[in-house]
Amino acid sequence: MMVIMHESATAEQVAHVVARVEEVGASAHVSTGERVTVIGVIGDREELTALPLEAMPGVERVVAILKPYKLVSREFQPADTVVDVRGVKIGGGHFAIIAGPCSVETPAQVLEAARAVRAAGGLMMRGGAFKPRTSPYAFQGLGEDGLKMMAAARDETGLPIVTEIMDPRDLDVVYRYADVVQIGARNMQNFLLLAEVGRLDKPVLLKRGLSATIEEWLMAAEYVVKEGNRQVILCERGIRTFETATRNTLDLGAVAVVKLASHLPVIVDPSHATGRPDLVLPLSLAGVAAGADGVIVETHPNPEHALCDGPQSLPTAAFGEYAGRVLDLARWVGKSVA
Ligand code: PEP
Ligand code: MN
Repeated sequence: MMVIMHESATAEQVAHVVARVEEVGASAHVSTGERVTVIGVIGDREELTALPLEAMPGVERVVAILKPYKLVSREFQPADTVVDVRGVKIGGGHFAIIAGPCSVETPAQVLEAARAVRAAGGLMMRGGAFKPRTSPYAFQGLGEDGLKMMAAARDETGLPIVTEIMDPRDLDVVYRYADVVQIGARNMQNFLLLAEVGRLDKPVLLKRGLSATIEEWLMAAEYVVKEGNRQVILCERGIRTFETATRNTLDLGAVAVVKLASHLPVIVDPSHATGRPDLVLPLSLAGVAAGADGVIVETHPNPEHALCDGPQSLPTAAFGEYAGRVLDLARWVGKSVA
């Protein structure tokens, strides 16, 4: 439920409500808005209804949150969450291009991609060192060696690193190098992994599962935020449908729905959604028009020789042209892009 405080409520009155809520074993999340303070309360319904919240000094009213997800809902927090990655902001009017190869292969490959991303106005780089591959015989990623290559590219370009974690046993090593920890589509409902990254003090990029409903996706985000990590970026990366002309179907309706239902930033991944480089630009633009706070895109110096997802990667030589078009539209819809 939400406890809406009076405009004139004092800090002591807010602290009193929080203390009473915590006394019954529930948790209180305070959002201080420009005019009013709202306290989101999560806990046992019976214990909470026994608390005379409405009678407490400074409380204006108490309203129930009807959605199954609470902490990530707009009702709970009306203002956009702004995720801050070493000073790069995303959400709340801040737009970011994240780009790089599907997987890290060599120091030169990552560095060349990172330089192209930086030169084009991209704000973060992506690259997988632990790869979730459909075939156990396919390249599985370079592990820590790959993370070191990304760290070297970060040293030179300054771009923060977005990289995937697949297994809670890799938490320490991924944490050491990553600036944003990515949960891939296949792990969206790995609840133990979600809780683990929820206890980190680094932002999480949560991809939508291949066949997940919007509600299931937001419930996955709830698992992360419930543990205390509020810095979550949602990523629509295409879902499974009957259509075979594209690798997946980019669900742009989901972008618009989630922007209304949740305060978390939402980005689109047109590379995995389409599987085709010629569709990456039009669907990036469509994502921006639908309200996305950023894009995450695959780019490779030599897509023909990529060890993973070459066919959908933009050649780095073409990345500047692509990014220019996307940033133009993002500015046009009123986003800040730097
Ligand atoms: C990726 O980002 O390289 C990836 C594997 O994405 P997804 O989890 O969306 O398939
Ligand atoms: Mn990929």
